[in-house]
Amino acid sequence: MTKQQFGVTSGSNLRCRGWRQEGLLRLLENVLSVGEDPANLVVYAALGKAARDWPSHDAIVRALTTMGDDETLIVQSGKPIGVVKTHERAPIVVMANCNIVGQWARAEEFYRLEKQGLICWGGLTAGDWQYIGSQGVIQGTYEIFRRIAERHFAGDLTGRLILTSGLGGMGGAQPLAGHLAGAIILCVEVDDARIGRRIESGYLQHRATSLDDALRLVEEARAAGDARSIGLCGNAADIFPELLARGIIPDIVTDQTSAHDLVYGYVPASLTLDQTKALRQSDPESLSRLALQSIARHVQAMLDFRAAGAVVFDNGNLIRTQAKKAGIAHAFDIPIFTEAYLRPLFARGIGPFRWIALSNDEADLRKIDEYLLETFADNPSIVNWITLARRFIPIEGMPARIAWLGHGDRTKVGLAVNRMVREGILSGPVAFTRDHLDAGAMAHPNIMTENLKDGSDAIADWPLLNAMLACSSQADLVAIHSGGGGYAGYMTSAGVTTIADGSSEADERLRLTLTNDTSLGVMRYADAGYQEAFEEINRQHIPYINLATPSPEKA
Ligand code: NAD
Repeated sequence: MTKQQFGVTSGSNLRCRGWRQEGLLRLLENVLSVGEDPANLVVYAALGKAARDWPSHDAIVRALTTMGDDETLIVQSGKPIGVVKTHERAPIVVMANCNIVGQWARAEEFYRLEKQGLICWGGLTAGDWQYIGSQGVIQGTYEIFRRIAERHFAGDLTGRLILTSGLGGMGGAQPLAGHLAGAIILCVEVDDARIGRRIESGYLQHRATSLDDALRLVEEARAAGDARSIGLCGNAADIFPELLARGIIPDIVTDQTSAHDLVYGYVPASLTLDQTKALRQSDPESLSRLALQSIARHVQAMLDFRAAGAVVFDNGNLIRTQAKKAGIAHAFDIPIFTEAYLRPLFARGIGPFRWIALSNDEADLRKIDEYLLETFADNPSIVNWITLARRFIPIEGMPARIAWLGHGDRTKVGLAVNRMVREGILSGPVAFTRDHLDAGAMAHPNIMTENLKDGSDAIADWPLLNAMLACSSQADLVAIHSGGGGYAGYMTSAGVTTIADGSSEADERLRLTLTNDTSLGVMRYADAGYQEAFEEINRQHIPYINLATPSPEKA
């Protein structure tokens, strides 16, 4: 099967008994249509799957097309288990993906269970059908580059070089994010087909034929004062040290290979892509060893760039953790992006909110963009982002938009869009969801919650509470995920989706779900001692019980 065979459905014809079920079915189709390897149900991050296997997928589709509004489909690691009678305010789908008991939560145990067909990893947004293509992480990456610009380069990245690697499902957002931030960005990718795919989708501009050609393209852009994105086919563990050897120090360095997975993700420098694929089956242990050796070289080069003055950060792929295992003692000198750049936003409940036009009509997306530009005219960061996004971000799959909105604003947008659906301004319903990497929705001590003020990095209660709260708030789909592959034992997160179908019931579902989701996020950061969270609690009257100071006003 090829990618082209995985399409999305348009228009207002329902195959299900209501829009809540139909919306979720369209989202499932959508993650496959924009996925990296849909024939194997893989959406992104090497192994993040939309369903356990094809029989499970087909049974999920059958359940969604037949179930009523007062029933709930139970999904366990990508496999449907049953449809039970609940009530019309209960979620249509509840899921638990890849949650392995603590002592057993290791990569080897995950692979064993996966091979037996007992489990699959849902990534973050893959298994609960919320992925919207590379756009899903683009604004986060853009915000990081902008913050680096402000902190280190007087707000201007013109002529500055960003070096990174990995042009996969998520990493593919990097070239466009760098370009939008005004920089020159060089992306090293070992699989030439991925470079082709990003050029085709409009996320990447140039394909360099060699390192010399890439550097020529960099210099050309620098001389012209242009922003530019360049893809170079090669292995980061070779190219990064080669640049150092030539004395070329980029201004900013990061990486988004799937380094979290030593078997199905990271490609060792000593092997070709085909050799790597063969070794995955024949000798995964040797492959892991070779991958670790390459990651050690890769991260040592990142540390050397840092010592030479580059701004270096980890972009959430566990590469420092792997490097430390491989003997790079100082790997954690490289800061994680959340702590370094985005935490003040999360502490206010601002994070990667998103919506998807279920009609598959681009005009609906444009109308919501216009609503945002009007409603948030006095908020420069929202206006700047929506203006850039509508101009430069290509549509992948169903029309969707990411926008980092916070507490109150998400509810406002959800309710306004539901009204637009009701009044026929939009041609169909809209799904509201978010990344799991959101204020109250993730515990991941090497990514999201690293170095929290109160040391609560590894406490997974928060995402579990988040999921329960989403059920209590009448969300349409609620999921609890833990890490698979190399992420096994490293994280727990929660996903939530609510469909704006124009009904008054949807008003209630959206009001409760969106408000309570960010409320918990802000409370989580207040509980960890972040001043920004206390300010938000006071400003927005979030009902946090502050044991340290009885009244939040006094906090
Ligand atoms: P993916 O598997 O779709 O893509 C990874 C890419 O890296 C592939 O194209 C692969 O060919 C390439 N690659 C592997 N080894 C390489 C090497 N040695 N040199 C050069 N290229 C190499 O994964 P993805 O969805 O793009 O995610 C990448 C990583 O980012 C994952 O670890 C994922 O968990 C993480 N991630 C972070 C965030 C965040 O918010 N910062 C969000 C999503 C994903």
